[in-house]
Amino acid sequence: MSQSGVSSPGEMPIGAVVLAGEEILGEAYTQEQALGRRIVHADLLAMEQADAALGFSRTQEPLTLAVSLEPCLMCLGAAVTLGVKRVWFALESPNDGAVDLLTRWHPPVEQAFFAKPVEVRGGLHHERAQALFAAYASGTGPLGMAWAQGALRGSGCRFMHRLRVAGFGRDREGTLQAWAGPT
Ligand SMILES: [Zn+2]
Repeated sequence: MSQSGVSSPGEMPIGAVVLAGEEILGEAYTQEQALGRRIVHADLLAMEQADAALGFSRTQEPLTLAVSLEPCLMCLGAAVTLGVKRVWFALESPNDGAVDLLTRWHPPVEQAFFAKPVEVRGGLHHERAQALFAAYASGTGPLGMAWAQGALRGSGCRFMHRLRVAGFGRDREGTLQAWAGPT
């Protein structure tokens, strides 16, 4: 994905797509800077589109959420409620990533319609994600990315260490190519 194809200026390079097989039910980029709001995460917006498209109907293929940054608690909660079976993400989020919490969460009652995703995988397309986030953190990002800039300068390079994945193109074909399957 080209740098210019990622979200809008000043926005973190976070994109998400919801798939049923190869059918795209939702795709979105984070809108926090564009809208000046807090909970307009790429993954949540993409899942809202999928929810609107599906209603109470079920898909033959299991739902997959693919996102360039590890989902937060809110978005993983939405994924459980929507019935997402697979969560793929590019790089771990040292800020609000909640995958570890999800692994320790157990629904009080096991229900087919309210269950944890069966597969949660990070580290997809790591080189592209690394390049995108590194460029963002070192360049035009808002002050909110200071945590990343500091980490990039640090000798430990904690952020860089965590940059283990990817992104995808704004164009539909590129999105499919990038997320058609784990690399
Ligand atoms: Zn989120």
